[in-house]
Amino acid sequence: MKEMNVLVINCGSSSLKFQLINSSSEEVIAKGLCERIGIEGSQMTYTPAGGEKQETVTPMADHTQAIRLVLDALTNKEYGVVKSLDEIGAVGHRIVHGGENFASSTLITDEVVKAIEECNDLAPLHNPANLIGIRACKELMPDTPMAAVFDTAFHQTMPEEAYLYGLPYHYYEDYKVRRYGFHGTSHSYVSHRAADMLGKDYQDLKIIVCHLGNGASVSAVKNGKCVDTSMGLTPLEGLIMGTRSGDMDPAIIEFLCGKEKKTVNEILNILNKESGVLGLSGGFSSDFRDLEKAYQAGEVSAIRTMKAFAYRVVKYIGAYTAAMNGVDVICFTAGIGENNSFIRTLITSYLGYLGITIDEEANAKRGEEIEISAPDCKTKVLVIPTNEELAIARETVALL
Ligand code: AMP
Repeated sequence: MKEMNVLVINCGSSSLKFQLINSSSEEVIAKGLCERIGIEGSQMTYTPAGGEKQETVTPMADHTQAIRLVLDALTNKEYGVVKSLDEIGAVGHRIVHGGENFASSTLITDEVVKAIEECNDLAPLHNPANLIGIRACKELMPDTPMAAVFDTAFHQTMPEEAYLYGLPYHYYEDYKVRRYGFHGTSHSYVSHRAADMLGKDYQDLKIIVCHLGNGASVSAVKNGKCVDTSMGLTPLEGLIMGTRSGDMDPAIIEFLCGKEKKTVNEILNILNKESGVLGLSGGFSSDFRDLEKAYQAGEVSAIRTMKAFAYRVVKYIGAYTAAMNGVDVICFTAGIGENNSFIRTLITSYLGYLGITIDEEANAKRGEEIEISAPDCKTKVLVIPTNEELAIARETVALL
């Protein structure tokens, strides 16, 4: 395969994360973030490999302007990493929702853009921003091939019994109301790495991936296919997250609307942005570094929050072990899963029924791929740093 540099773009409503990755060495040549796009005080951080991080406060009225600044930085004579845009062989876009239209990544054509637009209803905050990113790149680099890599695609193999809600079936037929799942690129990357680390065939394994970051989800991967995942129609379902509630009785919404004299939208905003770990800790923090310190200091709000967070993960592990009739390997990834050994200890302390004991010395390490279960455990526990950008770059190159 021809060596090339792939620009990986992750557009949010007012932000844009990027990495330029060399396809052959898989090294990150430069990376950065544009924030507050379209809002006063927009700024860009840009870090070339081996160079210093630069921060530029400059107006960015829209995503096209942000991408123009990114391309200017990448080709800058002083601190740029490529001589011209010709040295960027492809662009890979992270797209949040592919609905049932996309079960895999795809090269972007006009039809693909239309099909992504059809999913806007399902992710009204994210997909339009992703599309703006696609259009901005198309305007500035019209001849560069682009790929769409979907957060939902990996989960499209879920069977009907896992993705259907217990709702009138015509809501699925009429509006495609079903469970989709997110973080698919990460679940796919980590589950494949787990098979590699164990030297086993991906198709022969029952894998549970716990992606525990600010957004958090668990997935079950059996014989090379995702068979269940904890997020649903939207990322609100499932685990207790940084600021999202996760699973709850839907009747709570109407109850709180009445008590607090709020609209459904206002309550949903609270469920997405003020709940989860932040809400449970009484507004203390959504960051596990703060929570762990407070837990160790005996702070009751931190203790109840971390216990509730861990307990929900434990329940999903149990459910997925049952769904797959066993589990060969449990993986921890993302900000909390990779870095917080304490939460891994809390979670795995429930897993004696799987014969799991933890090698505390291995569990104390950070930031590397490592087996943390004791050597004689039948079910393995691995920590695997996720790398969604690299996975998107690989997918992009594979499509060319
Ligand atoms: P992510 O969304 O994957 O970037 O994860 C973000 C979360 O990971 C943060 O809110 C922290 O709770 C957690 N995290 C990141 N770094 C650490 C660390 N060194 N120790 C403990 N928790 C961490």
